[in-house]
Amino acid sequence: MKVCFITSECFPYVKTGGLADVSGSLPKALSELGTEVKIFLPLYDSADVNEFGIVPVKSLTGIPVRLGTKDVVFNVCKCKHPDTDIDVFFIDCPFYFKRGKIYSDDTDEDERFILFQYAVIMTLQLLKYKPDVIHCNDWQTALIPELLKTNFSWDGLFKKTKTLLTVHNIAYQGRFNKSSILKANLKTDKFFPFGPYEFKGDFNFLKCGIIASDAVNAVSPTYSKEIQTPLFGEGLEGILADKKDFVFGILNGIDDNIWNPKVDKFIFKNYTHRSLQNKIPNKIELLKRFNLKPDEKIPVFGIISRLAVQKGFDLMFPVIDKIMKENIYLIVLGSGEKIYEDFFSAAGKKYTRKSGIQIGYDNEMSHLITAGADFFLMPSKYEPCGLNQMYSLNYGTLPVVRKTGGLADTVIDCFSNPAKGNGISFDNFKSKEFLDAFKRALLIFENKEKMKKILRRGIIKDFSWKHSAGEYIELYSKL
Ligand code: ADP
Repeated sequence: MKVCFITSECFPYVKTGGLADVSGSLPKALSELGTEVKIFLPLYDSADVNEFGIVPVKSLTGIPVRLGTKDVVFNVCKCKHPDTDIDVFFIDCPFYFKRGKIYSDDTDEDERFILFQYAVIMTLQLLKYKPDVIHCNDWQTALIPELLKTNFSWDGLFKKTKTLLTVHNIAYQGRFNKSSILKANLKTDKFFPFGPYEFKGDFNFLKCGIIASDAVNAVSPTYSKEIQTPLFGEGLEGILADKKDFVFGILNGIDDNIWNPKVDKFIFKNYTHRSLQNKIPNKIELLKRFNLKPDEKIPVFGIISRLAVQKGFDLMFPVIDKIMKENIYLIVLGSGEKIYEDFFSAAGKKYTRKSGIQIGYDNEMSHLITAGADFFLMPSKYEPCGLNQMYSLNYGTLPVVRKTGGLADTVIDCFSNPAKGNGISFDNFKSKEFLDAFKRALLIFENKEKMKKILRRGIIKDFSWKHSAGEYIELYSKL
């Protein structure tokens, strides 16, 4: 089977969040199961072409495309995905992608990803490459199914090609002014109230993709159900429910060559479930890095996150003093919305000897926190899948999460289910429930034997792509 995996970010070239991890690891797992995969992503200025050996494809340079009234030219570059035979194609269009950031608030954000999607389809045409499945991810790639059914329907190359759209986060939909339809060379006749292109007066890339694709999937079983309800669907619950027989949920996997305490090259000391004591030097190192007294008897609570409303840190606002009153360390690595950056920075200043706050993005440090912390806090308001709780479980770091989306599918509360519990979870989005969960974590920390038993369940659980990649192949085959 031939699958083209289209994404706006992919580890190790460029990453802002979980989508990059998935884009870097799922194709590898598919390929190991015998699928022929090609990855497509934009060539942003942050990708290091020398480090990854990204080179121009000589036959694919200076390709013109008209977007509405604008003439644009793009090139295609290429490299092999690390340790695999997978071709990664980069759409090189400096005007759109060399902007010092991956996503922007620029007025032509729609054009950037319209160009990307046209360029992907045109590259396949120029290569005369006939994919069985084009696997799109999020709004930045969601117009492809519609473009194949309209402007490219004449091309027999795609006659048998099916499309799958994976929704990694339904809150990001790609909503633009109606004029965006013309930039995509689409016709405005499908833009009318409640029509396929219209959403609250805007053109909506994701809505368009949900309707036009052959199937849709969300990144966890629970989230696939949640997004069909008004509470989580962000207005798209109706069209998803209409299409429910073609809406699936497949839990993300993790790349166990990168996120594995046994081989992780960014941590201080490697360990397995048999040598859990070797987690402690990581804790000591982590505390030293944040200039905190390296006392292994004090529990460390870690956070690594985009700082966005979704992640639920509002729950900590009213209870931060109660949390910090306890004999704990709080270590936070994150960046994003100012309100959360300010909140954690202020906590850092107030509790200098009990906290380490790093505002920013730091891949290496994210590994050390995962290994060195005793607990990982993830009180998400909603969580399509979440990777950090799975990383934590595999690193013997107990996750404290709210029971939603992928967190509900992966973390089993050890108080309500003592026989199988692997973490701590709470139901309702309330500060009091968060605080109670935090206190339950302190109780467990007191009971070393019990904690070890619970950690073992998480560390030996296989969250790799082995299962989920098989589910994707099944879904492709069904299509
Ligand atoms: P989301 O995609 O919603 O941000 P996920 O849990 O699916 O959340 O994935 C987040 C990924 O991004 C994880 O690999 C996490 O370690 C990483 N990450 C988030 N914030 C940072 C940061 N400030 N520094 C380093 N890595 C980060």
